[in-house]
Amino acid sequence: MSVSENIQKIKAEIPSEVTLVAISKTKPNDDILEAYNAGQRIFGENKIQEMTQKWEELPKDIEWHMVGHVQRNKVKYMAPFVSVIHAVDSLKLLKEVNKQAKKHDRVINCLLQIKIAEEESKYGITIDAAKEILDSEAYQNMQHVKITGLMGMATLTESEDKIRKEFTFLRTTFEAFKEENDNFTTLSMGMSGDYKIALKCGTTMIRVGSSIFGERNYN
Ligand SMILES: *Cc1c(COP(=O)(O)O)cnc(C)c1O
Repeated sequence: MSVSENIQKIKAEIPSEVTLVAISKTKPNDDILEAYNAGQRIFGENKIQEMTQKWEELPKDIEWHMVGHVQRNKVKYMAPFVSVIHAVDSLKLLKEVNKQAKKHDRVINCLLQIKIAEEESKYGITIDAAKEILDSEAYQNMQHVKITGLMGMATLTESEDKIRKEFTFLRTTFEAFKEENDNFTTLSMGMSGDYKIALKCGTTMIRVGSSIFGERNYN
């Protein structure tokens, strides 16, 4: 199936209130334009340099999401245009985002990445650490970042039951945080392999790459 057919198929599977972020990392502009011409406007990348280059070359009404781990010294390159940073995991990073967003008189939406998978390699912070960031005076005083929700990645496993447990845990956490934080609107969970489970667990934003653009080739 083509990129546009894949987009249409996924759009038909998800409720209208769930946001689809098309993860276009490693994919050429032509593929992104095909999705764009099928109506997709929200794209996600995991490398700042690649996202910045694509932002420069592609239509300006695209909303760019950074879904990968962010190095603080590179925040400045995406500060002029990035709309959501999904994987914020420290107050230090948030401070840098606030500083760089201020230079462009912008407010950048951020999600805190919660570690829900058991694998050591997965990034993310604990619920307590997330609370600490949200409650900190430093964050409360930031004018140019807004924490709008949580993001998580489930364990890479065949066990649907395990994935469901991890997503349910994140959804429950999200609901609890929402009680205390008026800005909370977004729960980013679900990728190509598990977005159907994430939908059942109440995700509000899915990040789908290979099911739209095909397998990635890193060579
Ligand atoms: C690459 C990536 C995705 C998309 O992965 P697929 O399995 O291709 O859908 C989603 N989220 C993050 C953080 C990613 O890095």
